[in-house]
Amino acid sequence: MTFALHGIAVSKGIAIGKAVLISRAALEVSHYLVEAGKEEDEAQKLLDAFEQVRQELEQLRQGLPKDAPQEMAAFLDVHGMILADPALAEKPIKLIRTQRLNAAWALTTELNDLLEQFADIEDAYLKERANDIRQVAERVIKALNAQKKDSLNDDDFLPASDIGVESIIVAHDIAPHDMLRFKDHAFTGFVTDLGGKTSHTAIVARSMEIPAVVGVRHASEMIRHGDWLILDGEHGVVVVAPDEQLLAEYRKLQAQALKEARKLRQLKHSKTETTDRVEIELFANIELPEDAIQAVKLGAVGVGLFRSEFLFMDRKQALPDEEQQYQEYRRVVDLMHGLPVNIRTIDVGADKALGGGSDVSQTGASPLGLRAIRWSLTEPEIFLTQLRAILRASAHGQARIMIPMLAHAKEIDETFRLIEKAKQQLHQRGKAFNPNIQVGAMIEIPAAALMLPLFINRFDFLSIGTNDLIQYTLAIDRADHAVAHLYDPLHPAILNLLSSIIDQAKRADVPVAICGEMAGDPALTKLLLAFGLTDFSMHFSQLLLVKREILKANVGLLKTRAPRVLRAYEPEEQAKALEYLLS
Ligand code: PEP
Ligand code: MG
Repeated sequence: MTFALHGIAVSKGIAIGKAVLISRAALEVSHYLVEAGKEEDEAQKLLDAFEQVRQELEQLRQGLPKDAPQEMAAFLDVHGMILADPALAEKPIKLIRTQRLNAAWALTTELNDLLEQFADIEDAYLKERANDIRQVAERVIKALNAQKKDSLNDDDFLPASDIGVESIIVAHDIAPHDMLRFKDHAFTGFVTDLGGKTSHTAIVARSMEIPAVVGVRHASEMIRHGDWLILDGEHGVVVVAPDEQLLAEYRKLQAQALKEARKLRQLKHSKTETTDRVEIELFANIELPEDAIQAVKLGAVGVGLFRSEFLFMDRKQALPDEEQQYQEYRRVVDLMHGLPVNIRTIDVGADKALGGGSDVSQTGASPLGLRAIRWSLTEPEIFLTQLRAILRASAHGQARIMIPMLAHAKEIDETFRLIEKAKQQLHQRGKAFNPNIQVGAMIEIPAAALMLPLFINRFDFLSIGTNDLIQYTLAIDRADHAVAHLYDPLHPAILNLLSSIIDQAKRADVPVAICGEMAGDPALTKLLLAFGLTDFSMHFSQLLLVKREILKANVGLLKTRAPRVLRAYEPEEQAKALEYLLS
């Protein structure tokens, strides 16, 4: 039966393919389809792992010291009983046989089903049994991983080409770093139950130029593995089990979009200026060094935001050392051939978890917690290492330091003190760097926006992070789909803040850019031009779309229409003012 689900469109385009369901726990394990004909071997692997865990538990039980608390034995007995229940292996084995899921994937899929059933149970004792089941399943997964030489491996994702049809990932949620792991795999779309438009997961999906719809509540429960899906990344719609007619219509739309993209590419070589000859600079936002290749190809005049934290988010690796970071930054600098590269210092916390295992102090999971520069200043050695690596890259081109989430004067003081210290350390080691490296601040906390002179006086350039500025001004967690409808870039408070920041920076002759998602939204290009913005930084997939708007715009005229928009606070009045501005 055909049905449609609705969510938040975060990455444009239409994808048509079969659903590949990634369970919550499955993101932590390898998941691939076993070769046809090898299903029984895989089922045996699962049974062997069960047997291995049974023996382990038995040994533990035998080895319990006489004075061990009674609960220990009871606990091991419960685990033994869970393991002995044939029902736990039954369904995974069926999944292996009928859908060719690898053993760990099949087991975690079943585990999730079981845990969800437990979630509805009120009884505290029974609820606790859910934990036992999870622990037993985790032991089995560990045993399965031990059967393989190396456990978690990115190659475990089966490329869609091997399946023979295009695949769309369906998951409850995907962390930004896990999203990046899909980069080299030929998936054609993403659907998640959770997420908001400017969550980092959505940003990464856009950067991969793969259609994505997030915040599709219950998608991972309602869509089954192998269902045919149409994913409309423009309107936030997911059609499940579409009929032939619908498929044909969407295929037509897909072809049209391809044609338009080809036409757009012709703009690549033209100058970026408005009809009244105001030159506009378009910069790229990147997550990985190699993204710089596309940025240059599409005509970016620099990297406005390199989200360096993506180098730090691999859970399996230790944090990169100075040399490794230097090599990565240098790669971007080299790829940009002398154009500026704003390396944003590590911004972990909130929806971006830090990798590197247990030897690193924790960041805050709340967007109001220990995030970005706040965390860096509590970890001066990690921060100094990063600063030295950026400084060393500055010997080869225009690497610049950009600091996220500053609000307090004392944070600024401390940051500059550490930059000086990093310079001294390099000097003592005889390493080359640019002593006059430019340092910029992100303006993304309302307090910074409201006290802009502090930043204008102390920094070489400013970059407005509208994703966070909106989040903190409107008190909307940008990753929470429950409040996603309140995340409004056009809120009069936001527009007035933006206009004021741009205006003050321009008057003081301090370069100012926007590097939040607003800069890459072609529907907002004329409005930002009207506020006087001349530097836009966005993901490269948006560059030409924004450029097309710029080529049609007359800044002189737009500026005369801005005050009416800024004065409006009633929605109707604002809508009219905007319509007039865009006419
Ligand atoms: C922003 O906040 O707008 C920004 C560009 O930084 P990030 O999205 O990485 O927080
Ligand atoms: Mg930010």
